[in-house]
Amino acid sequence: MSIALHGFGLGGGIAIGQAYILDKDLEGVAQFTLEANEIAAEVIRFEQAVKTTRKELEYLRGNIPSGAPAELGAFLSLNIMMLNDSQISQAPLEIIKQESCNAEWAIKLQADYLSHQFDEMSDAYLKERKNDVVQVLERVFKNLEGNKFDWADEGKLEKGILVTRDLSPADLVQFKASNFAGFITDYGSLTSHTAIIGRNLDIPAVVGVNNGRQIVRDDEIIIIDGIQGVVIVNPDQLVLNEYKRRKKEWQESRQKLRAIRKDDTVTRDGVKIELFANIEIPADIDDVKYNHADGVGLFRSEFLFLGRNDHIANEEEQFLAYLHVVKAMKKNSVTIRTADLGADKNPQWNATHGASDNPALGLTGIRMSLAEQGFFRMQLRAILRASAFGKIQIMFPMISSAWELKQAIHQLDLAKEELRDENIPFDEKLKVGSMIEVPAAALSIRGILEQVDFISIGTNDLIQYLLAIDRNDEAVNYLYDPLHPAVIKVVSQIIAAANKENVPVSICGEMAGNVKLTRLLLGMGLCKFSMHSANILNVKHVILNTDLNQIAPLVSKILRTDSREKIYELVERLNQDLDLF
Ligand code: PEP
Ligand code: MG
Repeated sequence: MSIALHGFGLGGGIAIGQAYILDKDLEGVAQFTLEANEIAAEVIRFEQAVKTTRKELEYLRGNIPSGAPAELGAFLSLNIMMLNDSQISQAPLEIIKQESCNAEWAIKLQADYLSHQFDEMSDAYLKERKNDVVQVLERVFKNLEGNKFDWADEGKLEKGILVTRDLSPADLVQFKASNFAGFITDYGSLTSHTAIIGRNLDIPAVVGVNNGRQIVRDDEIIIIDGIQGVVIVNPDQLVLNEYKRRKKEWQESRQKLRAIRKDDTVTRDGVKIELFANIEIPADIDDVKYNHADGVGLFRSEFLFLGRNDHIANEEEQFLAYLHVVKAMKKNSVTIRTADLGADKNPQWNATHGASDNPALGLTGIRMSLAEQGFFRMQLRAILRASAFGKIQIMFPMISSAWELKQAIHQLDLAKEELRDENIPFDEKLKVGSMIEVPAAALSIRGILEQVDFISIGTNDLIQYLLAIDRNDEAVNYLYDPLHPAVIKVVSQIIAAANKENVPVSICGEMAGNVKLTRLLLGMGLCKFSMHSANILNVKHVILNTDLNQIAPLVSKILRTDSREKIYELVERLNQDLDLF
């Protein structure tokens, strides 16, 4: 029977292939009682799965793509250490023997036991290790079924589609190094970190497909439409043919888009627009260059710290990462955002700094950096040192007031002083900017504009805080609306204020890469966009086909409208002559 599932499309086109369920979890595992003569074979099956898991993790550790965050190696080593612990590799064996049960059930019992033990711990950091331990046991569990997929064999998943619960930093390594047609996840919303990592892979993907793993079975044919956010399980021949046609059409349109890679980005009436790229790790630079971005508009530097146990990539490690990017970008600018780490992005931070009921409203972004000045100074020094080798700009996240920005700039001045004292060169003219993503900053923008060389609007968080919607909570995702009248008003007011003061303004949130919004943003006076490399050519295509004078009346009408329905209708009209995917 054919079933259609819905989620959030991350783009990347259409994929058709066989499902591979990556991480089956332990919920719903069945218990079987074994005959005495079956136990020895079950023990061997378990030992074999542990061996395969070890090989898999060691392979991953030895094949981290260049430029991936250095801490991923440490993360994988930790997984191997856990696997070698008798609680994981031995205890289930004893359970199989004592309970005469199947290996899956033994793993489930041991996972439940260890989870309970971790829950009892008072040390928040150790408590946080629970997920890691369970993940390792789940890996063993998956391999019990026979290792259908060998990560080392890149050809194998040529047409495969991963069905997974979520993406983690370790998955990122696997995914970037392997060759598969697309993926779907149970978790994730459009602006969650799952989505941000996923979009970066530029393959058909749909996230937030609730219960995807329960419905899809291994080896079933599935279609992923990353454009519409639809997944079709077991399509009939008619549907299959239709999607094959759409896939071909999409590939042809991508081919056409490639032809404009090297063209200047200018509107029909001759206004130059700059298109920058967002990156998470230095390895993303290849795509930035391929798509001829004007520079890096947002380097989410916190990805250098995610997944680490100590959270700290030291000054030298950071310096080398920034250097790699700035050298690769040659004369084009690279905007490094200081670590935007908080419990919302990095659960481990929670572990050492106490849990927060509302992480997105807690010690995150610049607040965390100002609270951890040693950490902050180390990052500022690393960025400054790299600035001697290219065109770096620095940007602070989650600024909520002029005085908070002043404190951040003060820390930057102190870091500069230190380097001068140590005779370490840096760019004395380094430009400083602020993210505008907290409504308070938008409403008191003048005090911020006075202190900076540029601003960048973080629409992901701006929408979250304006509309009071947790961007990671699927239950309220339907309310997350970039075309909410409040959102478009605030965004246009920020752009107008910056343009009036001649302070360069860009958008680096997901709105910038959404082709349906390109004309609206151009009409608001935006001339700099920063987005994932995968979106650059689509946005460029719209810009090349836009006349600013022509769209102006409709855009001002949209900005004067308070009805959501009307706004959607007018935006549709604004784009009606465009062929958009
Ligand atoms: C934003 O909030 O729009 C943004 C660009 O930052 P992040 O998505 O990393 O929070
Ligand atoms: Mg943000």
